[in-house]
Amino acid sequence: MRHFGSDALPEPEVRVEFGGSQHRKAVQFGNPTGLEVGAEAGEPVCRERKRMTNSWTIGDFTITQVVEMAIEVGELDGLIKEATPEAVKDIGWLYPDYATESGQTLWSVHSYVVDTGAAVVLVDTGCGNHKHIPLVPAWSDMNTSYLERLAEAGYAPEQIDYVVATHLHFDHVGWNTVLRNRHWEPTFPNARYCVVKDEFEYFLGLAEGKPLSEHADADLRLQTRFLFEESIDPCVDAGLLDLVPMNHLVCEGVRYTSTPGHTQFHHSLTIESQGEVGFITGDFIHHPIQIARPSWSSQSDWDRGISAERRREFLEYVADGDVLLFGTHFAGHSVGRIVSDDNTFKFVAV
Ligand SMILES: [Zn+2]
Repeated sequence: MRHFGSDALPEPEVRVEFGGSQHRKAVQFGNPTGLEVGAEAGEPVCRERKRMTNSWTIGDFTITQVVEMAIEVGELDGLIKEATPEAVKDIGWLYPDYATESGQTLWSVHSYVVDTGAAVVLVDTGCGNHKHIPLVPAWSDMNTSYLERLAEAGYAPEQIDYVVATHLHFDHVGWNTVLRNRHWEPTFPNARYCVVKDEFEYFLGLAEGKPLSEHADADLRLQTRFLFEESIDPCVDAGLLDLVPMNHLVCEGVRYTSTPGHTQFHHSLTIESQGEVGFITGDFIHHPIQIARPSWSSQSDWDRGISAERRREFLEYVADGDVLLFGTHFAGHSVGRIVSDDNTFKFVAV
């Protein structure tokens, strides 16, 4: 079984037991004590960054949100099937950022830029421009100003050192590449593009038509073929793609953290500096409603049961603590803390 941590991990630094005595599980959230932040840290990559409202700090690190798009109201209705308007309205704190007054869920597509001072890490790259997105035709052939917003945040494509994908769904790798003269080229020419090897191989198998789980339907296979052709293969051809092990340390203070369920090898990112901890969810927590109702999984999850189980364990672990949660599809205020709330949890934005 795969959990947050893994037996295959080289020397887990922090092991946290949780989940009750019947099924105790080991979790790794990185290494708060092993960091050597500041020692030999390189020159900050960008000193001229404009002041951004959508910026937060974790110790010495700055994390900035770069929005690709707000998803149109109604577009993802039904993605969490239990989230009927009545059920949504029952959870008062979802309004106004995460749900409408009439009980429809709100969603966003955005990236986070983690600037450690020594490296700039771009986590998840949205849908991209001019891509084929048969799963959501309305998002095909988009033309958004994502790169301009990245520039406004102070980062040119050349300054990105690592592009990190939490998983290989089309809305997380789109800006890996741009279309130039009818060819797809890596957007970030100086970056190492990181994908967890098992995740890569699963989706490559999907694209190639290998029999996998029942979740691997024809629509997802077609989407995955476009994803490789347009967003992954050009990075491979340019020699920029690194297939990394589970729970890989991307760079000092930025660690992949296994959170299976949405995809089999899905990873979130744990960010640590000076004893402070941030956690970028990826689609492990797809919508804030899953903080109040951890058992409500997305229809797009690879395994809804595993997703729900891991989510509850995680929320129990971080509730009422200092971990700052960065929601990957959270609309409005997307960063906050998990607080206990009458047998369940709520999200309190900062
Ligand atoms: Zn997503």
